[in-house]
Amino acid sequence: MTRPAPAAPPPHALLDLAPPTAAEFAAVERRVAALLGTGNDVVIMQGEALLPLEGCVKGAARAGSTALNIVTGPYGQTFGGWLRDCGAAVHDLEVPFSGAVGAEQVERALAARPETEFVSLVHAEAATGNTNPVAEIGEVVRAHGALLMLDAVASVAAEPLLPDAWGVDLCVIGAQKAMGGPAGVSAVSVSERAWARLAANPGAPRRSYLSLLDWKERWIDTGRRALPHAPAQLEMAALDACLDRIERTGLGAVQQRHARAAAATRAGALALGGGLAPYVHEEAAAAPVATTLRTPAGVDASALVAKALAASPGLPLIAGGGPLAAGMVRVNHYGPDASEEAVTSCLRALGEALAHAAGPGAAPVDTRAAVRAAAGAWAGA
Ligand SMILES: *Cc1c(COP(=O)(O)O)cnc(C)c1O
Repeated sequence: MTRPAPAAPPPHALLDLAPPTAAEFAAVERRVAALLGTGNDVVIMQGEALLPLEGCVKGAARAGSTALNIVTGPYGQTFGGWLRDCGAAVHDLEVPFSGAVGAEQVERALAARPETEFVSLVHAEAATGNTNPVAEIGEVVRAHGALLMLDAVASVAAEPLLPDAWGVDLCVIGAQKAMGGPAGVSAVSVSERAWARLAANPGAPRRSYLSLLDWKERWIDTGRRALPHAPAQLEMAALDACLDRIERTGLGAVQQRHARAAAATRAGALALGGGLAPYVHEEAAAAPVATTLRTPAGVDASALVAKALAASPGLPLIAGGGPLAAGMVRVNHYGPDASEEAVTSCLRALGEALAHAAGPGAAPVDTRAAVRAAAGAWAGA
């Protein structure tokens, strides 16, 4: 008697994936360039977005030079540390995380230090829920002549991002937020001015994983014919798939979904009551990628989120990081969670948790009014 044939092995599709060829890798770079509407070189870095961000700072900030670091949230604080590591004289322009920095503040900071060569700025901060007017700031920085680095990880695909029109020299993106893609690869567009600055900096990383110049010399300047290292094939395939999905949906439609999610969350939270309030005061400064909410006095945000998630696991809710954990709730309505359903579910879960958490005399919670307000804002945005 013959034994039955062994069952077919499970499909190891992820393991069997062939690495992208140089031509395929270059095609993904062109797709990213198209997404950013940039004519500058795009380098795809084989690591999470902190890799190109650190590579940009370490490459562009010369020892002994002066840098203006605009701090509107925790990522700006990180950049300040890197700039100091480079031996730059760093001026931090810090504004309350509940708002945006104004172009006139940047103009004054540059006028006070005309020798400033480098400006670092975060477009939208997912961690604090604010977004900055990059077009106006870019104009001021360009007029001054400094190099502008922009962290656009939390803004790309969530809101308009025009690095070339805005005079951004180094524009860093990651796919893990509004693009709904992988976190393990990232990209940076590099202007001619920025390449020249990096090349002239004796301290810029070379023969290093942080080195943008290595990619220029070994990949771009040789006609993108041979990849300098084994590419991260899973992440590259996922990035290509996510760019494909955005192209099919239309970038404008993806951005509109995020704008709607932000408007609906804000309106819903205001109608919810219970003492919950938008953390970012002005709606114009609220980022489409994520909405941050301030919990009322006596309600710990971490405990509130834990309660909401225990009842409704999997919702895109998280308490603020570090010192913000006690008083801030974040609704991460990005990527697939930029949906009316996700927003509504978050409002319901927060409403229920808040109704239980609040002590006697607390402001009443009206979950139905919140859902109604969210629906109205979703339709109107
Ligand atoms: C999410 C994000 C990044 C990526 O950092 P992670 O901490 O790895 O998520 C970088 N910059 C900004 C502004 C972000 O919002």
